[in-house]
Amino acid sequence: MNSQLQIVIQLSDLDTQLEELKNVRIKDKEESLGFKVQAKEAEIKKFRDSLRKKIAPDMLSQYDRILKRYKMRVVAQVNDGVCYGCFMALPTSYVSESDRNNKIITCPNCGRILFWIE
Ligand SMILES: [Zn+2]
Repeated sequence: MNSQLQIVIQLSDLDTQLEELKNVRIKDKEESLGFKVQAKEAEIKKFRDSLRKKIAPDMLSQYDRILKRYKMRVVAQVNDGVCYGCFMALPTSYVSESDRNNKIITCPNCGRILFWIE
């Protein structure tokens, strides 16, 4: 698998976790839980920053554009030719077998970065 894609998948995971934690924090105002969530957020952000440094600048700006739009789940997996970000079927000839997971491919419908489960 493309190494940038691998990092982007991890990064998308972290950003998704951060967004979910943010929602937990808004819903649950209890102090003790709030503190734990904050500690977890700080930990994730640290890891996230280290991953961002490994991504090429143009890739990172593409990533951030998608993140800004969806807040989470920048990367979507493709299952049976269907994008699991928007649940649209990709055109059958859209990506050649050899480009899957080797090139950065985005969904023609939702724009998320795609990866294939092998
Ligand atoms: Zn899609």
